[in-house]
Amino acid sequence: MKGTHANLSKDFITGSDKTDWHNNALWFLRAKRDIQRDTIEDWEKLRSTAAAIKDHTLSRLPEYLQTFEENAVKNGMQVHWAWDDKELREITAKILKDNNARSVVKSKSMLTEECGLNPYLEQEGFEVVDTDLGERIVQLRKEHPSHIVVPAIHLKKEEVSDTFHEKMNTEKGNASPDYLASVAREALRKDFMKADAAITGVNFGVAEAGAVVVCTNEGNADMGVHSKKTVIHCMGMEKLVPGYDELAVFTRLLARSATGQPVTVFTSHYRKPRPETTEHIIIVNNKRTDIFADPEFRQAMRCIRCGACMNTCPVYRRSGGHSYHHTVPGPIGSVLAPFYGKEKNKDLPFASTLCGSCNNVCPVKIDLAGLLYRWRQKLTDETSSDMSKKIGMEVGSKILKSRKKYDLAGSVFRWVPKGLLQSGLNPWNVHLPDGRKGRVFPEVPKESFRQWYKKNQEDS
Ligand code: SF4
Repeated sequence: MKGTHANLSKDFITGSDKTDWHNNALWFLRAKRDIQRDTIEDWEKLRSTAAAIKDHTLSRLPEYLQTFEENAVKNGMQVHWAWDDKELREITAKILKDNNARSVVKSKSMLTEECGLNPYLEQEGFEVVDTDLGERIVQLRKEHPSHIVVPAIHLKKEEVSDTFHEKMNTEKGNASPDYLASVAREALRKDFMKADAAITGVNFGVAEAGAVVVCTNEGNADMGVHSKKTVIHCMGMEKLVPGYDELAVFTRLLARSATGQPVTVFTSHYRKPRPETTEHIIIVNNKRTDIFADPEFRQAMRCIRCGACMNTCPVYRRSGGHSYHHTVPGPIGSVLAPFYGKEKNKDLPFASTLCGSCNNVCPVKIDLAGLLYRWRQKLTDETSSDMSKKIGMEVGSKILKSRKKYDLAGSVFRWVPKGLLQSGLNPWNVHLPDGRKGRVFPEVPKESFRQWYKKNQEDS
């Protein structure tokens, strides 16, 4: 049983100096991204081209999916279609059973995380080992990934060391990244040797070739695909690009935007099965057609899951991925989440300052801030609302509309003890409900800005 998002989020926010440290770690990736952006002269043109390719492909998705399937089948791949998460789980389990596979090595796939594949397979008696190092760490800790590209970014090396000591009997207190990585590598090699089948995610599907492309920095997808007789690639239907020319645009953008690398260490193309092996591609919908059918939110389907919007988001950086109680966190996760349950995810579009930094870095130019704002309007109309928040907003709006009331409220609040303000206002702060527990109300100034300004103007 995995730790809940709420518990993990509470530990993250209230525990220690994690928020500052996490903020800096993510900003480091953002800064690396900026350096890589500056190596490409026509970066903005590249982004616009990528957005146009995605819009084009999505507007002809049935055609491209058909071409992809025909070419993949010609290459000897077996193509399956999963309408939803349940079908992905069942198809995967059936393929494994039909091929007498009981153990699986899996490379990083947020799609399988979204569809709850690991818990299902484990419940069905399969052994599943995540082989991306970050994913393996969170798997050992029974946690969810907190980021779509760097799943264990919320953990310090000392915490990883403790986990490895507990689960793999490593030296207590040895938090050397080299040591921990070498132990993990050794253990994973044994898992690769032992497993019966391999599962991968998919970064891109190339329609003209019927091939899938998987980008990793660790080569773990290749280790699985090249050593197992049964291979399954799980691909969201929005991952298609028409051909290799279009793919080249995205491979230039993906790693630069994600981790500030010019390209991922491995960009692996899987086109046809090796002799005496079976290779399957499962194309998954799971509400993607609902998103595409909505003209207001359609552009969210352009997303290539690079994580850049998370790395730059001030809310994500300071609250951590587990605060978002949805598989994909951060700005894009908050845009997608209401499609998977408006009532249960109605708080997420409010977990943003709407500063627009995500818009500036998104390699496919999704108007994330605009979409979040639109969700706020829709969800306020379409879901139940918290009465105390509603009253608070109405009172707030009356005060803010009137200069006299604003001045009066300001002078009253300046005399209320800070502790009382903290306990009085927290219940209204319904967004990131677990995140608020670590928030400290700032010191209330003794005078208003207007009073301070007037006084200083007179002094000067
Ligand atoms: S919305 Fe844009 S920035 Fe965010 S993960 Fe998707 S492609 Fe990357």
